[in-house]
Amino acid sequence: MIKPVIAGNWKMNKKVTESIELVKNLKTLVEDINQVDIIVCPPFTSLYPVSEIIKGTNIQLGGQNCYLKESGAYTGEIAPQMLLDVGCQWTIIGHSERRQYFSETDSLLNQKLKYVVETGLKIMFCVGETLDEREGNQTESVLRRQIIEGLRDLTAEQMKNIVIAYEPVWAIGTGKNATKEQAQEAHAFIRSLIEREFGKSTAENVPIQYGGSVKPENAQELISQPDVNGFLVGGASLKADSFAQIIKACI
Ligand code: PEP
Repeated sequence: MIKPVIAGNWKMNKKVTESIELVKNLKTLVEDINQVDIIVCPPFTSLYPVSEIIKGTNIQLGGQNCYLKESGAYTGEIAPQMLLDVGCQWTIIGHSERRQYFSETDSLLNQKLKYVVETGLKIMFCVGETLDEREGNQTESVLRRQIIEGLRDLTAEQMKNIVIAYEPVWAIGTGKNATKEQAQEAHAFIRSLIEREFGKSTAENVPIQYGGSVKPENAQELISQPDVNGFLVGGASLKADSFAQIIKACI
């Protein structure tokens, strides 16, 4: 049985005071929950104050992205070591918004994964097809390319620190989630790819999160699917109440 991993991706939302308020409320609402891993991914500017509030609690901290160097002349970038330094255990890599708006390619993401996994940060690696790709019957070929090229040359040992997030782009921020059948089908396909690349044991143990308009109303039916092992939540993680309800639906 894979322990569900539920992460809130706050994206470019919440100033410091708002972040503090949100995480304080969340902390109270999910206080006794240890059956799932709970992660919040605030914007970089809020990481430190949030980390101070969640110290010693069941809430873990993640970055939304990072670069593949420890330090140097990379204006605007953040090193994985800086995320660790501020209290993160996790980072997201390859979110579709990074792929779409910041031209992050499979090859760059592969370099990031190989570098970041060696720093000790755990990674939520995002994959997913666009609406055009789904309508053109390309879902499987897109997922195959993103998984094979993104995870190229990683080892089964390194995969222990990687979670896959299946996020169909057409479902992100649109209010239109994948059905439980669509999610299960894609997750099972991803797991089969992982098995082919890394073996049965890795495939059986890798958590695969679903992301795309997860809300309290649909969380339970999605998490009831055998290959759905958690969520990456955008909009609904911006309110403590709705994020806590999603977490509780996974217990
Ligand atoms: C996301 O940003 O990863 C996401 C899934 O967003 P939303 O839940 O708002 O669709």
